[in-house]
Amino acid sequence: MKKDDNYQFHFDTLVVHSGYNSKDYLGSLSTPLFQTSTFTFESAEQGERRFAGEEGGYIYSRLGNPTVSALESRIASLEGGEAGLAFSSGMAAISAILIALTKSDDHIICSKGIYGCTFGLLDLMKDKYRIQTDFSSMSSADEIESLITPKTSCIYIESPINPTMKLVDLQLVSQIGKKHNIPVVVDNTFATPYLQKPLQLDCDIVIHSATKYICGHGDVVAGLVVGKKDFLAKVAMTTQKDIGGIISPFDAWLLLRGLKTLPVRMDRHCSNAKFLMEKLKEHPKVKKVYYPGHSDYHDDFIMTKQMAQGGGLISFEVYGTKDDAQQLLNELQLIRIAVSLGDAETLIQHPATMTHAVVPEKERLDMGITDQLLRLSVGLENKDDIWADLSNALAKV
Ligand SMILES: *Cc1c(COP(=O)(O)O)cnc(C)c1O
Repeated sequence: MKKDDNYQFHFDTLVVHSGYNSKDYLGSLSTPLFQTSTFTFESAEQGERRFAGEEGGYIYSRLGNPTVSALESRIASLEGGEAGLAFSSGMAAISAILIALTKSDDHIICSKGIYGCTFGLLDLMKDKYRIQTDFSSMSSADEIESLITPKTSCIYIESPINPTMKLVDLQLVSQIGKKHNIPVVVDNTFATPYLQKPLQLDCDIVIHSATKYICGHGDVVAGLVVGKKDFLAKVAMTTQKDIGGIISPFDAWLLLRGLKTLPVRMDRHCSNAKFLMEKLKEHPKVKKVYYPGHSDYHDDFIMTKQMAQGGGLISFEVYGTKDDAQQLLNELQLIRIAVSLGDAETLIQHPATMTHAVVPEKERLDMGITDQLLRLSVGLENKDDIWADLSNALAKV
């Protein structure tokens, strides 16, 4: 793709073309799959030069692979960052970044209500390396600043927060990060770069569980990071190279394929979700509905600042007991009971006994995760069919 003129391609063109030029690969329209572990050198001296970093080129697939590189360039261009880095899972990406940013006895400030395994990782870092984490609602500058210590080495946030869809004001947090020279890391899995671009709001590092919307087809587990070139080069040569959570070339190839339809899929996920959110709000058996910018948090002003649309996830609370919530799942015919999100199929799960089962009850309830709360990942099916299934199940509980 031409980069030499001033014309800027739009997002829906970049998802198809950026990071790959068919001229470099014998005209192959689709990015070739380099299913190889290693790369041969033409001479001993060339091997020496590549290891010394004096000559570009591939060495071994844990250190770089052309299919993976194409994916890394593409996600960087979509997030508007300098460079990208791909991993074997979202957690491999998150752990590589957090380990790279911290040393023992450091301090992290984290948004309340993060992905369960990220919480587990922070716990492990506390036990092994005495890295303390303070959790913040991130609702005001004063609240965040009151937690900063000389040892604070990063601010880590998710927005929208899972599963209650509360929003964190990314610009507010990034301004504090800049003022105190602390990097701000954003897990952008729920929004995707199509709906939210944290780097444009001055955050420093974006992480994705690419398993979700980026893949979009429920057949890959992977992670992606976008940030400054120098920082990611350091991660590539340390916590990625030596811990080794790299993506397989085939999974990178599948993600490049999935990404091409990201905007088309996201528009459909969002319009389906909006339709279902309105229906759920009117339903007499539904007590509460959580959807970005449409909940009781009065955060629609944050929504307008940072998200193009609300996304494909809705959480809702039914009246009754845990049994009623579970029975609702069992009555569904089309909607599948599963964790994960962002797939073509509509998925539903019960956070209290599934994704958030490890959270102690009091904390869980404080976060709004009651026994009657359900999380719906709205798929690409016909919206009337999804609603027919959901309203039919609601009628039976
Ligand atoms: C799924 C998920 C992760 C973890 O990603 P994996 O690909 O499962 O390792 C991290 N953050 C969020 C918000 C997620 O939804």
